[in-house]
Amino acid sequence: MTRHTGSDDGDETSGTDESHGIDGTSDDEPRGRTDDEPRGSADGDRCGCGSADGTPQPNVPEIGRDERPAIFVPDEESEERGGPADAPRTATDGGVESATGGSDSTELDPDAYDPIDVFPEGDLDLRDGADSCYKCTSCDTSCPVAEVDDEFPGPKFQGPEQWRLKRKDDHDIDESITSCSNCMRCDDACPSSVPLSQMHNEARGQFVEEQMEKLSLEYVRNRILANYRTSARLASVVPRLSSFAMNFGPARWAMDKVLGIPKEREFPEFATTTFREWWRDRGGAQVENPDKRVAYFHGCYSNYNTPEVGKAMVRVYEHFGYEVLVPPQKCSGTPMFANGMLKDARRHAETNVENLIEAIGDGADVIASCTSCSMSLRQEYPELFDIHGIEDVSNHTFEALEYLRIHEDLDGALAESDGPGDEQSFAYHAPCHARNQGLARQAVETFRDVDGVEMEDVGDSCSGISGTYGWKSEKYEKSMQIGEEMFDHMEEAEGKVGMTECPTCAMQMEHGTGYEIEHPLQLLEETVVA
Ligand code: SF4
Ligand code: SF4
Repeated sequence: MTRHTGSDDGDETSGTDESHGIDGTSDDEPRGRTDDEPRGSADGDRCGCGSADGTPQPNVPEIGRDERPAIFVPDEESEERGGPADAPRTATDGGVESATGGSDSTELDPDAYDPIDVFPEGDLDLRDGADSCYKCTSCDTSCPVAEVDDEFPGPKFQGPEQWRLKRKDDHDIDESITSCSNCMRCDDACPSSVPLSQMHNEARGQFVEEQMEKLSLEYVRNRILANYRTSARLASVVPRLSSFAMNFGPARWAMDKVLGIPKEREFPEFATTTFREWWRDRGGAQVENPDKRVAYFHGCYSNYNTPEVGKAMVRVYEHFGYEVLVPPQKCSGTPMFANGMLKDARRHAETNVENLIEAIGDGADVIASCTSCSMSLRQEYPELFDIHGIEDVSNHTFEALEYLRIHEDLDGALAESDGPGDEQSFAYHAPCHARNQGLARQAVETFRDVDGVEMEDVGDSCSGISGTYGWKSEKYEKSMQIGEEMFDHMEEAEGKVGMTECPTCAMQMEHGTGYEIEHPLQLLEETVVA
């Protein structure tokens, strides 16, 4: 096994070599469950989510929801690979036995990766998805941007209608696609499983690639926002100075005027010790357990801004006897998808898939503490990229609390605990991307019976920030308008501390109410570990 002790840049691996197979329970069993399904038990069905006939019923979003291959493969490229142009593409693997038994490769070999360009050779073949739309407009009524922006035509236009329009050679992508925040609420709302966000990602990527002026300030600003990891990595060299400089009034005014980054927003503080530095300094994993192993995808924000979330995750998982791996990793790509920077996203995805598939080969499942990161690894990667191992990464990825609820008796552990000490009340917001993974109720369900904890769900509205959407001056007011319902409900709730799994929703919650915001893993640590 390769042990990842990590480094501050996420690109260093060190450790010892010994071989372990995949956790015998993890590959053959169904993964995930819906909110209403029973929890796992100590019997063979650890996750407790298999159907009576043994058919997996994963909580993982359906990939390639139309029945045709989700990834566009140019005819000539497909034929070069030895298959007919329309041959269905099956799950790939990284030299590990696939959960579906579809493995046919032996070693993890980066040279064997066969990524393709989504652009410029052609488009994803989403005709079946487009044809599934029966114009019910459920997606339009669920769209938070359409609600506040009269010029935004809504997801039905951005999805199936635009997809058909751009089949015509002389038809440009409508610029309004850049106003879609990629919240993915329309995916969740569509009764016909039209792959709306896949269509939006493709159209936005194509617009940015082919129509957007690369020297425009808008493109430069969006590129900076999309590549947050790069800025955060630089800022973290001198974290105190960076935190001060970025929140210095004249600097914020200049960024607003020159780049279009709203002066109203407070920049998040940079941690003086990143998560990966902390991980390295403590000597990596404190628990060795080949039977319970997870690879932590911390994402950029937990590394550079809120390492306390990552530390809580490690302590909680080690408390339950897990060996935690922290593989080298880059950005999940979430802000890149939202800004149409698909080439950047694919570059990062290649690194992530390469390292995560190695951890999966070492018997780990992948967990993320950010619901947008888990969404990206589970759904957006395989919907947009064809990278060796990507389906296995998708199938092995979970949100961190979700995974514990599936595999551990969390209710029992919480019932035995003395609670968090002082009585605590929280105003909980479920991020849109959690909602899309069926996780909207998980924090409330986890803590509702815990002595000394009050957890109030503040409703199903969008926070309005949607990653980088609310970080654009021209969108700032709309972002706050979308968030208004959540702010009101937070203020009506008894709890004066907010809770959410998404770091940018946390920013918006804090910005709109002034509340301190916690991650559910932090409360779990306080309750079961402390
Ligand atoms: S992803 Fe969100 S903003 Fe974009 S069209 Fe769908 S609901 Fe609207
Ligand atoms: S919800 Fe689905 S079926 Fe209804 S209009 Fe939107 S894309 Fe079409």
